[in-house]
Amino acid sequence: MAKRRKATLVASKPINRADLEDAFYGLLATLKNAPPKDRRQLADRLFGELGRSAGKWAWYGDPQTGKRRDWYCEDVLSGRLEIRKVWEDDRVLAFHHRDPTSPIHVVVIPKIHVSSVLDPMALNGDLLSSMVRAVQETARSLGLDQTGFFVRTNAAAPGVTPHMHWHVMGPGVLA
Ligand SMILES: [Zn+2]
Repeated sequence: MAKRRKATLVASKPINRADLEDAFYGLLATLKNAPPKDRRQLADRLFGELGRSAGKWAWYGDPQTGKRRDWYCEDVLSGRLEIRKVWEDDRVLAFHHRDPTSPIHVVVIPKIHVSSVLDPMALNGDLLSSMVRAVQETARSLGLDQTGFFVRTNAAAPGVTPHMHWHVMGPGVLA
């Protein structure tokens, strides 16, 4: 059972590089000690867990502090990461969240860097208008206008990705 603990450990967050390496070598040892017939299945499961954790780790600019890097600018707006677009205009982009936490989970982001809703640029009328338009278009195109939905934005904490993003989530509303 002690062997399994390593693999479970890496699934919790925040994770740092040392934990990840530790988990990797623990995993290799686990595989080495497993009966040969079980190795394949065990490897699939454990490496899957490790991969998902490493993916989470890659989101953090500084794993020690848990401070997020700006993956919206670095991965999404740069075109490095493929996204499923819902709507866009010149100023904003709405796309399906890559790690959804509700059945429909879309994020709306400005195409220029705006750090959060506290950024003076968030007051720009054209940008604000496009953000709201993206919410409306998302709701109508995905049927959330019939089922209810809510819009959420986080700010001002180290774990928040430092690029303004509005989550459009549903079906249903927050109590
Ligand atoms: Zn940015």
